[in-house]
Amino acid sequence: MNFSNSEQLYKEAQEVILGGVNSPSRAYKGVGGGTPVFMEKASGAYFWDADGNKYIDYLAAYGPIITGHAHPHVTKAIQNAAADGVLYGTPTVYENKFAGMLQNAIPSLEKVRFVNSGTEAVMTTIRVTRAYTGRNKIIKFAGCYHGHSDLVLVAAGSGPSTTGNPDSAGVTKNIAEEVITVPFNDLSGFKEALNHFGKEIAGVLVEPIVGNFGIVEPEPGFLEAVNDLSRANGSLVIYDEVITAFRFMYGGAQNLLEIEPDLTALGKIIGGGLPIGAYGGRQDIMEQISPLGPAYQAGTMAGNPASIRAGIACLEVLQTPGVYDKMDQLGRKLEEGILKAAEDHNIPAVVNRLRGALTVYFDVDKVSNFEDAESSSTDMFAAFFKKMLVRGINLAPSKFEALFLTSAHTEEDINKTIHIVEEVFAEGLE
Ligand code: PLP
Repeated sequence: MNFSNSEQLYKEAQEVILGGVNSPSRAYKGVGGGTPVFMEKASGAYFWDADGNKYIDYLAAYGPIITGHAHPHVTKAIQNAAADGVLYGTPTVYENKFAGMLQNAIPSLEKVRFVNSGTEAVMTTIRVTRAYTGRNKIIKFAGCYHGHSDLVLVAAGSGPSTTGNPDSAGVTKNIAEEVITVPFNDLSGFKEALNHFGKEIAGVLVEPIVGNFGIVEPEPGFLEAVNDLSRANGSLVIYDEVITAFRFMYGGAQNLLEIEPDLTALGKIIGGGLPIGAYGGRQDIMEQISPLGPAYQAGTMAGNPASIRAGIACLEVLQTPGVYDKMDQLGRKLEEGILKAAEDHNIPAVVNRLRGALTVYFDVDKVSNFEDAESSSTDMFAAFFKKMLVRGINLAPSKFEALFLTSAHTEEDINKTIHIVEEVFAEGLE
């Protein structure tokens, strides 16, 4: 494959765009650097780059593109929205319908508000827990990513009974002191944090199924205990479903796991590819938000009709019978193909998969928390990523991300991908 146009574009990008990219992982930092491929066009399960190379895409824009790129129904909705004006700054005739669709799909959303990103959605749910409880601190789980607001850019301290440290320059020590980070799936660590900080804890923030150190499911009883203990302590539970909502089924991970939080943050898939976030939950808690309550949240672009109409169209596609079963079947086929190729070529790989989302880890026995994921081989993943890319398979450039199936992927795409995995594993991941 020739990448000369991408190389030129990357050079030019570095002149005008800080670091040459608009989000750090796009600079391939997680896979040892290199020239990121500059994409030009996408359709269905495929990308074409600036050099005309074609790829099967498993990035799905880090999750949102579940119907495949430029799905005709979603594209039509965006075209119609463009023709009718994309931003009003007023209530619109579309937003009630969409809020109702979300509520029907995820019943814990007694009231909903639209924002513009997952970051904003999570940030606001934290503010609401503080407004409601009159407390300051939150507990979150190591390795879960919740966007780039200050409170969630905090790394774990030295143990569950210590507050955190800033995980980014510009996040103050004072802010980090409001956050306690404990390992996912570690109930005793969670109990220790809750016991130690007790009535200081406003909220507990968790990805109910983790998507940010690969796909990691909660161990049986873990979320139930987190919910029960938090509520007994007077703390609210926030599920960050920015990745998980509508990823595995029509609804949230909370539907799949049959467990409800007090508040939920949404984003990604619900915008059909346009910028969006949403949050919602128990009515009495949501009533803390302005204009009904004292906690402020607003947005010039919030609920813009383009994102709302794209979101409605995306959910309509996802209501098609069999959509999720097909992603599950293709996901299983891909998982089996990868594991068989790994066995045939002595590559130490494990796969965590839930329906149409999976992560391949190298040189680790199992992954059930962030520490496990961290200990998997970065070098082998980097080699895997690069060898797949030059053969026309676009993966997320980090060992902590998932491969996402879309409703546009076909059995032929999966067969081709497995064939390429075999070729790559046969060559080795040095
Ligand atoms: N929460 C989770 C679980 C995420 O994975 C992300 C983004 O990857 C966010 C929040 C932040 O969403 P956004 O990038 O739309 O701000």
